[in-house]
Amino acid sequence: MPPRRLRSVHDQSRRRSARPHSRHPRLRRQRSAPNRRGCREVPAVLDAGGPALDAVTASVVAMEDDPLFNAGRGGVLTAKGTVETDAAVMTGHGRAGAVCCSRHARNPIRLARAILAMSPHVLLCDPPEQVCRDWGLEVEPPEYFVTDARREQLERVLAGRHQAPRHGTVGAVARDYHGHLAAATSTGGIVASAVGRIGDSPVVGAGTFARDGVVAVSCTGDGEAFLQGLVAHEVDARMRLAGEPVNHAAMGALTDEVSSRVTDGAPATGGLIAVDASGRLVVCHVSASMLAAWPDHGEVLTSV
Ligand code: ASP
Repeated sequence: MPPRRLRSVHDQSRRRSARPHSRHPRLRRQRSAPNRRGCREVPAVLDAGGPALDAVTASVVAMEDDPLFNAGRGGVLTAKGTVETDAAVMTGHGRAGAVCCSRHARNPIRLARAILAMSPHVLLCDPPEQVCRDWGLEVEPPEYFVTDARREQLERVLAGRHQAPRHGTVGAVARDYHGHLAAATSTGGIVASAVGRIGDSPVVGAGTFARDGVVAVSCTGDGEAFLQGLVAHEVDARMRLAGEPVNHAAMGALTDEVSSRVTDGAPATGGLIAVDASGRLVVCHVSASMLAAWPDHGEVLTSV
């Protein structure tokens, strides 16, 4: 029997919870959950025997194209009103491509994928427009990425009138029919951050990680905490070296490496999605909410 193919997408709000909680998501059918879009693109890839890398890329592209998400068009604005996006992909074979402060590629996740496929490097910062074109990527002018909603959000934040949610990175994890794993993460970062600020999402081992036989992880939340805690790799290490199951490893990594750190005077928050080698899917967060979705027998199920 072929292994079950699994994939999940996430988007997280920056609300703090009094206590951390982990769960196999409450299965709910929702008509309007926006991150269902990230799932719709995927079944065709995996059901046709396509690789997990293609599936997570397609899923994240769909969310980057949707201005509701903090990724690609509609990414949050820096303090200077610009959009600088970060993205990373990683295969379970141990190959990664990532970009930070991307300003030209319509789909930063495709740029990350191109870096994996076409450059000898892993992480590029603000690759020139011509490089994107040379790699066959669609490019867009700066105004394409900036939406009115994000302008208003920035104004509120700078005026001290905005609480939550300030961000909401998107990501996907998948296991394909051959049992290979992949993870992808894409973000506009954190609203009103300094120009040039880089979060956890494009840093391999912090916001994104995959290793065949163990786990694929995509994170979202207060990037500085995830960076310093190397959270995605921490999940892998706990499973591989300590033999923890994926749900324990995920919650252990979040409580020890995220909640224990302070952001804006309070415990840092965030969450992650992970799929292990057996196909077990985990949605885990130390924040009040985290949206996740996954296809199931032709339907898209979501959790909040
Ligand atoms: N982790 C992202 C960052 O710090 C933000 C997010 O997850 O929403 O850039």
